[in-house]
Amino acid sequence: MSQFQQFLAALQAKYQPLATGQSASYIPELTKANPDWFAISVVTVDGQSYEVGDFEQTFTIQSISKVFVYGMVLEDHGREALLHKVGVEPTGDPFNSLIRLDEDSKRPDNPMINAGAIATTSLIKGADPTERLNRLMAMFRRYVGHEVFIDISTFMSERSTGHRNRAMAHLMLNFGMINGAIEEALDLYFQQCSLLVNCHDLALMAATLANRGVNPVTGEQAVNPEYIRDILSVMYTCGMYNFAGEWAYRVGIPAKSGVSGGILAVVPNQAGIAVFSPLLDKNGNSVRGLRVFEDLAQQYGFHLFDLS
Ligand code: GLN
Repeated sequence: MSQFQQFLAALQAKYQPLATGQSASYIPELTKANPDWFAISVVTVDGQSYEVGDFEQTFTIQSISKVFVYGMVLEDHGREALLHKVGVEPTGDPFNSLIRLDEDSKRPDNPMINAGAIATTSLIKGADPTERLNRLMAMFRRYVGHEVFIDISTFMSERSTGHRNRAMAHLMLNFGMINGAIEEALDLYFQQCSLLVNCHDLALMAATLANRGVNPVTGEQAVNPEYIRDILSVMYTCGMYNFAGEWAYRVGIPAKSGVSGGILAVVPNQAGIAVFSPLLDKNGNSVRGLRVFEDLAQQYGFHLFDLS
């Protein structure tokens, strides 16, 4: 076993007993998650994998999808046009906040909060909802290198209980921040959040971003390299909900978390790292995930501003 693999195994043993936090319950399907699930995956930019635990266990990607859809919509519209519709300013508010969706703000603050993500998804190009969904799925396929599926139960669960997201879409429509077909945009947003991945997939997706948009296993260009800078900047400032500042300070690499318990992070030009464990803290970040990343950052010194 390589030294790095041994380090990951030791991290798993260290944090498996840490059973604080709760799995998300506002999406009823997510309560079915097993609190013991725990996986760590690292994929390097030359395509090597190091992983421990339940790295083949599938779960829905949730908010982590926002990163990749942002990349797709950057490609569809270009940087300047998109910036007029969705900002890049961190909020310090929870991801589902309705604050500042008012007359004064011309656009949602950033594409990582739900409001900004729904607005971003509404901009995906395509002739009809099927074509837009097919384009979205094709984009995710490029990152994971295999067929992708949507968990229909989670999609239905979110669709029938997502009143807050629906309210956001209506507020944005009212203030002219988003255009007409909001039910279709919400469906597509709930579908992207219900995409099934495992921890290995997430690490490979992150490694693709670390590798200038080229999937290190398949060699396929998943996203235009011109937009990697945009994607990673927004992840760095807004990716960890209202813990983003603290994360940037402590761990110091671009990352994104989701309410199903995944965290994905990018070490530029080196690797993608993902942790999956469904127990969340009050901000909605995986408890075990945060601890693993803090230890990894400390041990391997990958904080971007660690110049020592
Ligand atoms: N689908 C979830 C929602 O819209 C995604 C939230 C998340 O992972 N933070 O509430």
